[in-house]
Amino acid sequence: EAKLRKEETLRRNLHNTIQELKGNIRVFCRVRPLMGEDADGASAQPIKLPECEEKNQIELSQTSENALGRATSKAFPFKFDRVFGSESTQDAVFEEVSQLIQSALDGYPVCIFAYGQTGSGKTHTMQGPDAISAEDMDAAVLGIIPRAVKQIYANTSKLAERGWEYTLEGQFVEIYNEAIQDLLAPSVRGAAGSDKQAKLDIYQDSEGRTRVKNVTAVSVDSAERVHWLLARAAENRTVAATNCNERSSRSHSVFTLYLRGRNSLTGESSSGVLNLIDLAGSERLSSSGSSGDRLKETQAINKSLACLGDVIAALAKGNRHIPYRNSKLTHLLQESLGAGNSKTLMFVCVSPSAASAQESLCSLQFATKVNSCQIGTARRQPAS
Ligand code: ADP
Ligand code: MG
Repeated sequence: EAKLRKEETLRRNLHNTIQELKGNIRVFCRVRPLMGEDADGASAQPIKLPECEEKNQIELSQTSENALGRATSKAFPFKFDRVFGSESTQDAVFEEVSQLIQSALDGYPVCIFAYGQTGSGKTHTMQGPDAISAEDMDAAVLGIIPRAVKQIYANTSKLAERGWEYTLEGQFVEIYNEAIQDLLAPSVRGAAGSDKQAKLDIYQDSEGRTRVKNVTAVSVDSAERVHWLLARAAENRTVAATNCNERSSRSHSVFTLYLRGRNSLTGESSSGVLNLIDLAGSERLSSSGSSGDRLKETQAINKSLACLGDVIAALAKGNRHIPYRNSKLTHLLQESLGAGNSKTLMFVCVSPSAASAQESLCSLQFATKVNSCQIGTARRQPAS
């Protein structure tokens, strides 16, 4: 028993030292393949991966006309912690995040975001296909959410041999127009339109943690449970909107797994949380061109994405006031983002098409800003 205890302590220390060295905010870039209409045209691909993925660099070239009417091309180089090219598989991407997911089991608060314009591959990365059938659950196409749950489930079974007992509780919410809605609530057919869905509030529990009031919490007691969970969320999204894709590109979805462990041999306990966040499309929508509901949506998205950047920057600077309350998203994630030991990963998803070059540039610039932030002691140089 004493030997087990020692081994267990060593394993956790080693794992966490490695994680610490990597810094607590990381940014990975993923370029999706060219598809359908964007594959047409001569200069369809403005994105280059110089020396490709080993160097973790990416270069975006933008062609424009100068004052003399000549086409000029300008190159914008970027460097991230990891760059995945358009050939990258879901397997390869997950391999790079599986350590972070292990950290949540070890008691760390973890957030993984997908940022990018609509159609850039956020949902593909976080979830996989929009609708996943039970037979698909082993498919290579699965994204981070189902793979993470499966990994956690497999690991808790292994850790049980070392005396650890875990309870895993999941919730899945959507933030639309600054209102939180429950994606796991029993769906009400016919309640189409977001207004009929209950809007949930954030509160602080007795331990000071931000939680969602009356949210459906499901015990994730088997790897199959995640299939049920994604299917229920998909159903709720369909009920809430005539066009489910459009709706999901205008809202943030946040899958949260609370992982509480107790070791009956050593008496240790741990409490981790894993947040997997598919952000609303980051495309700049001019407020001038839209009105009514569209305008309100646009303002809510712009505000909450800007606020996310502000919160990360304020945390990195060590500011005393962190503006969590400026958006529902950051308020909801307050304890996960702000805890001293929290770990954050942002995927910036980009399309390689020429038509998307301007949006890709904005996304890569936002991600570079995030990448230059390091919270706490593990400060690094900003990417050049
Ligand atoms: P977003 O969620 O950012 O709006 P999606 O994830 O829905 O974008 O991706 C748009 C389309 O591109 C989907 O049909 C998706 O299956 C496909 N796609 C995105 N990324 C990849 C990829 N890496 N490999 C293959 N198909 C992809
Ligand atoms: Mg999507």
